[in-house]
Amino acid sequence: MRVVDRSERPNPHSKAIALWPRGIEALARFGAADELHRRGVVLRAQNYHSQGRRVARLAFGGMRRTRYPYALSIPQQETEAVLRDVFQDLGGVIEFGTSLTGFSQDGEGVRAELETGSAQRTTERFGWLVGCDGAHSTVRRAARGSTQGSRMSPRRSTSGAVLGRGARPVGERAARGGAGGRR
Ligand SMILES: Cc1cc2nc3c(=O)[nH]c(=O)nc-3n(C[C@H](O)[C@H](O)[C@H](O)COP(=O)(O)OP(=O)(O)OC[C@H]3O[C@@H](n4cnc5c(N)ncnc54)[C@H](O)[C@@H]3O)c2cc1C
Repeated sequence: MRVVDRSERPNPHSKAIALWPRGIEALARFGAADELHRRGVVLRAQNYHSQGRRVARLAFGGMRRTRYPYALSIPQQETEAVLRDVFQDLGGVIEFGTSLTGFSQDGEGVRAELETGSAQRTTERFGWLVGCDGAHSTVRRAARGSTQGSRMSPRRSTSGAVLGRGARPVGERAARGGAGGRR
């Protein structure tokens, strides 16, 4: 099994800051749970603060139908590092600096067009092609699958919590925000 990534190296930055129960369950199936827990911090609750006072508390303990009734705080580059190790232990090969530029398929499999950083182009055959290439996926576009979603209202949409100062119990995260929220 081979993974190609057009980036020259693993992304050192994090988008995701937490794994949620279903995500942990999915990664546990590949044997990644122990290492993810070793590197992450279990969050039993999140507290939301605005203008110096707590306005909401989200406790995770009520989830009964999961082995992981909590959020695991872990930067995405750590999650990806764990997954790379698991994948390579299983015999997988990862190639950075190689882009998928297109593909065609027939009854036998897929013919993938690959380009390396030195602009060297090759065409190689595979039984399967799995597109895990993000929001602007070459695979989905080339497969003419629908990449169009519906528009979401930006109203009330927040992304990325800013950690607040002040005391918080171990295993809880405090997020500061909202109109006038101090940073
Ligand atoms: C601000 C922000 C916060 C987030 N927080 C969370 C969170 O707390 N918890 C959570 O679970 N999720 C979170 N997410 C979502 C999470 O980051 C994404 O779901 C996840 O990154 C998607 O992974 P992916 O592998 O599909 O795509 P990506 O992470 O975008 O990776 C795609 C990879 O494909 C490669 N690639 C692209 N095109 C090609 C090509 N043609 N050939 C070869 N390689 C290619 C890219 O180089 C890249 O390495 C957050 C997202 C954002 C933006």
